[in-house]
Amino acid sequence: MTRRKLFVAALAVLLLAAFALPAVLAEDKDKDAKPYPLDFCLVSGEKLGEHGDPISVVYEGQQFKFCCKSCVKDFSKDPAKWQAKLKEEVDKQNKEKKG
Ligand SMILES: [Zn+2]
Repeated sequence: MTRRKLFVAALAVLLLAAFALPAVLAEDKDKDAKPYPLDFCLVSGEKLGEHGDPISVVYEGQQFKFCCKSCVKDFSKDPAKWQAKLKEEVDKQNKEKKG
């Protein structure tokens, strides 16, 4: 009876680990991502947070924020294009800061 209990306990631990591990990995991936540097939606140009909570997406270690689901849809069609666009916008902002 004790052996059987041990087996059940071990199985429960294994199951827990199997479920918990991917969640931990996903969290770490998000944490390592570079934060979104703009205060507006890259797709629509709308200021974030004006139409509810912005939607956050991580692509290749870079976080993106969008004003709504349809912008996320546009983004997922061609993320590389929006990645380049983000770089453009950041460059533009940096130039403006320098004068
Ligand atoms: Zn939108």
